[in-house]
Amino acid sequence: MTHTPACLACGRGTDVVPLITLAYRGESHWICPQHLPVLIHDPTRLVGRLPGAEGLEPADHHD
Ligand SMILES: [Zn+2]
Repeated sequence: MTHTPACLACGRGTDVVPLITLAYRGESHWICPQHLPVLIHDPTRLVGRLPGAEGLEPADHHD
């Protein structure tokens, strides 16, 4: 397990994209601006990449 910053969704590092640091459940994660909307609107897509993502809810509800 490496702690080299890499996007949760695409795995790219800071040599390719700017990364936003997330603090979640006591751990640090990173995501790139391109995939930040995934975290906001469709976080279950990060299940298996972000521990606990299955418990997240999308920010927008189009009821
Ligand atoms: Zn990404």
